[in-house]
Amino acid sequence: MKDIYISAIESSCDETSVSIVKNGKEDIVTVVNSQIDTHKIYGGVVPEVASRLHLENITLVIDEALKKSGFDLNNIDAVAVTYSPGLLGSLLVGLEAAKAIAMVYDKPLIKVNHMMGHICANNIGQSLEYPLISLIISGGHTDLIYMESENSFKYITQTLDDAVGECFDKVARILDMPYPGGPNIERLAKEGKDVYPMPNLVKGSNISFSFSGIKSHVNNLVHNAKQRGEEVNKANMACSFQNAVTKSLVENTRNALRKYNVKYLSVAGGVSANGFIRNALREMCESEGVTMFVPEVKYCTDNATMIGAAAYILYKNNQFAGLDTKASSHEELQIEAI
Ligand code: AMP
Ligand code: MG
Repeated sequence: MKDIYISAIESSCDETSVSIVKNGKEDIVTVVNSQIDTHKIYGGVVPEVASRLHLENITLVIDEALKKSGFDLNNIDAVAVTYSPGLLGSLLVGLEAAKAIAMVYDKPLIKVNHMMGHICANNIGQSLEYPLISLIISGGHTDLIYMESENSFKYITQTLDDAVGECFDKVARILDMPYPGGPNIERLAKEGKDVYPMPNLVKGSNISFSFSGIKSHVNNLVHNAKQRGEEVNKANMACSFQNAVTKSLVENTRNALRKYNVKYLSVAGGVSANGFIRNALREMCESEGVTMFVPEVKYCTDNATMIGAAAYILYKNNQFAGLDTKASSHEELQIEAI
């Protein structure tokens, strides 16, 4: 089969990213323009600001990717774009840009679900094996998904409330650290000890995620200390919090692997950049005889490479989209439970 080159666009949140991916595996070029510095001022992503910045950046990022790679849009096989889930105004910018390329260059359009993209980040430079359990841990999701094959998704569980990344960000804010909080908590936790009592987030062999309780718990500890005129030890708090959250991720994933008797685990999403969580999951997988796949750190947070990798699977299955494709803030991969 001839080589397939897909140009992909990702703009679902606060990163404008464009890439060209060969055969769903090889990152020919990826440009990521992050808006983090702007959103930091507000303590989190402001949707209206995000969509305006995408609008300012999208053509510049496309141009940069083409210049860097020496590619011409006439030579790509398809154009792919994230259409859901995400911030509606942000998604629309990438989607309309992709439609314009599809129309002007007469290329097929492929609409990609952002979560499928996160999973497929694990196909860059390596190859996922099936059936697998996919753990997606990001700013908007904490999902366990069963995948019989590369294009089949069944939800085992989704968080009952906050996503784990959102929880990291909120706890960081409570501890006066800037957005995005995850990397800051990880850094601080290295200097601390696990001394603060935390709620137990593991309920036996149940498979269930919930993170709003631990966020409120940290908030209460900090405020109670303030009322007594004391300060909490932030490093110890970060360490205790990270340990409790990690335990929930590890034990729920272990339970899912056992319940469905699966020998492969895919971990993806922004929070999978966390070295402590990666190591804890890796240790669990070793003890369970499970092979774990996790992307290179640069492919954990939002990027267009993962969208190009996912689009290749859809391309092989002739799953193309029309120019009337709509963006959706909340469309999940498949609502069906296992
Ligand atoms: P995503 O939603 O996939 O773009 O990922 C963004 C989320 O990942 C944010 O909530 C970040 O705080 C979180 N994140 C990024 N790096 C880390 C890290 N090292 N530890 C924990 N969370 C992280
Ligand atoms: Mg994401």
